[in-house]
Parts: sequence; structure tokens; C-alpha cells
Amino acid sequence: MATAAPQRLQHQIALVTGGSSGIGAGVCLALAAEGATVVVNYSHSPEGAEETVGEIEKAGGKAIALKADVSKEDDVLRMFSQIREQFGTLHILVSNAGIQEDAPFLDMTLEQWQKVLDVNLTGQFLCAREAAREFMRRGPQPEISKATGKIICMSSVHEVIPWAGHVNYATSKGGIMLLMKSMAQELAPHKIRVNSIGPGAIKTPINNEAWETPEAAKKLLELIPYGRIGEPDDIGKVAVWLASDEADYITGVTLFADGGMTLYPGFASNG
Ligand code: NAP
Repeated sequence: MATAAPQRLQHQIALVTGGSSGIGAGVCLALAAEGATVVVNYSHSPEGAEETVGEIEKAGGKAIALKADVSKEDDVLRMFSQIREQFGTLHILVSNAGIQEDAPFLDMTLEQWQKVLDVNLTGQFLCAREAAREFMRRGPQPEISKATGKIICMSSVHEVIPWAGHVNYATSKGGIMLLMKSMAQELAPHKIRVNSIGPGAIKTPINNEAWETPEAAKKLLELIPYGRIGEPDDIGKVAVWLASDEADYITGVTLFADGGMTLYPGFASNG
């Protein structure tokens, strides 16, 4: 009789920001399936967060929903103290919350620019700083995880692919790349691993106009050599691996999960 594979994240507490929708919800489900207790953060969508918690509980896992706007320092500090009060500590942060506010460069308002940077980049800074402080306060727990703490930043292929009409978004993702690498360099001596995931096109509400109609999906597939649009679970699996001891020697990298979108597909037949 086959024995069940051991759960790779048992006895670990994970926070996923923006766990109320899309990729974040997929990451929550995948972490919980590996034994982690998951804090599902949300900002505007309590019903989305409760749905994620409900799905995890239905599958036999453990989760709670916590409200916090990641761009607001007070909210982030409160969320981390609630996590400490309720669970004692944190082992994994998946800093996933992100938004788009698209506009042609010539028309982009300061408000659109600032809002995206506040959520996508400052939000990552605030959550990663609080996670690292908590990892340092708690210290190593080698019986639970080889690394003292794991931070996974949700970046994008747009940390390397420029994106006209989306300069605020692409700038935030380019910023995450050096935030992640600089944190990784600084925190590695403390056995804190910091990495990013760079998703390509994943079917979520953030980009539904890019895949909802057959015409839009056909156009999008021209950018994906592997020939399919990604699903949240494709990213959930990567997050589990990066958070697990299997990735214990990995820090400071962006793992692109993009079906080859970063391979300059336009050059395949036009080089
Ligand atoms: P989504 O379905 O729109 O989900 C975005 C999530 O972010 C929601 O759970 C939302 O929660 C949360 N959020 C937004 N503002 C927040 C704030 N101020 N504080 C806390 N949470 C906030 O989008 P998604 O596609 O899953 O995107 C998730 C991440 O993946 C983003 O960082 C995005 O840039 C990245 N990404 C996505 C793709 C893709 O193709 N989908 C590709 C590359 C990278 P509330 O509704 O509760 O506010």
C-alpha cells in the first residue's frame, strides 16, 4: 500500500497577503495542503478571504482571515501582533498583494503612480521587515525548518519585461527585484531566505480581459511558448517548494513560472 507523502510545511505558520483572490488564494490552498497553518490576509474582500479559509478547512487544513492594508504601516504592525498573539510566531511570508492602475504614460496621474507603488512595493517592504523582525526575535527552530524564516515576494515577468501603459506596475516589480536581492544578502547570515516568484500570465481577476474571450486568449498565447495560460495552483506549487527545506540552499533568486514568457517569444520566428 502506498504511504502518503510527508507534509513539507508541518508545524509552520504562513502569512499570505492578498489571499482573498487569484494567485494568493491558490498559494494559501497549496501551503495549507502541505500542513502549514495559513493566515489569509485581505484588504477589501472579507468574503473572498472567508472563501479561501472555508476551502482550506473543508480539506482538513487550518486557516484564519486577517484584514490589513499592506500599504499602511499601522495595519501591518497590527496584523503581525495579531499573528504573534494567536500563533506565537511566523515561519513563512508570501508577500503577494498587488494591484494594477493602468494608464498611458502621458496620462498617468501621480495618484495612479503612487497607489501602485504604495501597495506593490512599500507593502512588500513593510511586510518583509515585520516578518524578518519576528524571525530574528524567535530564532532558529531547526526541528521545524532548516531556515529560521522564509520570505517569498510575488513579483512578475515585468520585473524584467518593460510594459508600456503600465509603468507604475513594471516599476513596482523592478523595485521588488532589488528589494528581494538586497534583503536576501543582508538576511542570509541570519538563516533567513528571501526569494521571488515571477509569474507570467495567470488566470485571475487582475487580468481577466486578457484571457476571457477566445480572441484575447489567442493573442495572449502568442506570448507563451509553452502554449497554455497559467493557473493559481502553478504558482502555489512553486511557493510550497521555495518555502520548504527542499529549497534550503536557494536565496536571492526570482523563479519565473511563466511558460517561457521571458524567453523573447517574438524571436522564435522573427530573429
Ligand atoms: P487579484 O486576483 O486581483 O488579487 C489581488 C489580491 O491583492 C487580492 O487578494 C486583494 O485583496 C489583495 N490586495 C490588493 N490591495 C491590497 C492591499 N492594499 N492590502 C492587502 N491586500 C491587497 O490578482 P492576482 O493576479 O492574484 O495578483 C496577485 C499578485 O500576483 C500581484 O502581486 C500581482 O502583481 C502578481 N502577478 C499576477 C499575474 C497574473 O497574471 N495574474 C502575473 C504576474 C504577477 P482585497 O480584494 O481583499 O483587497
